[in-house]
Amino acid sequence: EMFGQLTSGLESAWNKLKGQKVLTKENIVEPMRDIRRALLEADVSLPVTRRFVQSVSEQAVGIGVIRGVEPDQQLVKIVSDELVKLMGGEVSELEFAKSGPTVILLAGLQGVGKTTVCAKLAVYLKKLGKSCMLVACDVYRPAAIDQLKILGKQVDIPVYSSGSDIKPSEIAKKGLQEAKKTMTDVVIVDTAGRLQIDKSMMDELKDIKKILNPTEILLVVDAMTGQEAAALVTTFNVEIGITGAILTKLDGDSRGGAALSVREVSGKPIKLVGRGERMEDLEPFYPDRMAGRILGMGDVLSFVEKAQEIMKQEDAEDLQKKIMSAKFDFNDFLKQTRAVAQMGSMSRVIGMIPGMSKVTPAQIREAEKNVKLMESMIEAMTPEEREKPELLAESPTRRKRIAQESGKTEQQVSQLVAQLFQMRVRMKKLMGSMDGGSIPALSNLEEA
Ligand code: GDP
Repeated sequence: EMFGQLTSGLESAWNKLKGQKVLTKENIVEPMRDIRRALLEADVSLPVTRRFVQSVSEQAVGIGVIRGVEPDQQLVKIVSDELVKLMGGEVSELEFAKSGPTVILLAGLQGVGKTTVCAKLAVYLKKLGKSCMLVACDVYRPAAIDQLKILGKQVDIPVYSSGSDIKPSEIAKKGLQEAKKTMTDVVIVDTAGRLQIDKSMMDELKDIKKILNPTEILLVVDAMTGQEAAALVTTFNVEIGITGAILTKLDGDSRGGAALSVREVSGKPIKLVGRGERMEDLEPFYPDRMAGRILGMGDVLSFVEKAQEIMKQEDAEDLQKKIMSAKFDFNDFLKQTRAVAQMGSMSRVIGMIPGMSKVTPAQIREAEKNVKLMESMIEAMTPEEREKPELLAESPTRRKRIAQESGKTEQQVSQLVAQLFQMRVRMKKLMGSMDGGSIPALSNLEEA
């Protein structure tokens, strides 16, 4: 599991808040210590960790009580938002040249996966409909040129090379000319990897940069190297001026420090991440999804599968139609509430589903608690009342009867009725309907 240790470290922070009613300066001390430890163990640098914990603490103490949301959930939310912010907030897309070939210059130390990234990037761009060419400028390791050629052949992307006897900047220039001639959209330039940073490496990169004027200059760094990766991005940015980083080997047992620190430390975004050895394993870096994974929110796919088991597709569509036509009644309400309650075990991942993100874990917990209560009241309704909730909204007598039959208070019945109408409104909004509808005024209705 990616970042497993970080995830469980953070979990122990939430666990310490179980049973608390509100976040206070006192009761967040222990959880904050856990968060701090988890980040440091993930190889996030001390200054970054300090700032993070500081910011989370300040927000946590100031947040106050939100009805229906547990303090531990509040903290998860704050940490999640802060993680997303730490990683740069929005996804940082690759830029393309307005005219002529886009040049992407790749730099990186030996062994980080740079050569592999060249081919993966071409595969990725091809999927976006761009034609690519690889240019082999790593003249110091003849094997590197061969490797690029082999990879190029494997993924069916042309590789421009001219041996190892001419200067890399010359090769780069000729490569670009060739790309212009062949109307290639993107030129990906592989440069020399050294074991460590040295002056000649930097000078060479500056040379190539000057000649090619690349749209993107990306440093490839290895996620396994943690905060060192962030330091490298900083160095390269200061020395050469880069546009971002590509983080490789995120599939291994990297601890997360690199993914979390690069942006904050260097000011430069991670644009893409490598998550495996296959040529398809390169994807954009989404800070929000990454935060979701770190917090153990699982992945969307497995959720969708499970959710489908619970609520069959036709059911869901049927429900949607009813919601759109405002016919969502107590029968649907019961079905829906049961389904949501069943999803309780997956409440941690539900926030990741687009459109479902408004169903909070607190709402799910509420549903779990309420399902028994509701069942008894809904069972006391006549079929007509179940299908026409308006009858109950209009008539205190009916609500009184249901209260008596189900052994609940009239207030509880009123709340249930109000909840149904609120649900209609909320769901209509969720489904993107223009008009959210309105909540009828109920006599004797307590604020739900
Ligand atoms: P270079 O020296 O920087 O050009 O590195 P290479 O491209 O030759 O890659 C070094 C090794 O890392 C190879 O065995 C790659 O298969 C492996 N590698 C590269 N990217 C990834 C990745 O995202 N995940 C995993 N697991 N391995 C990778």
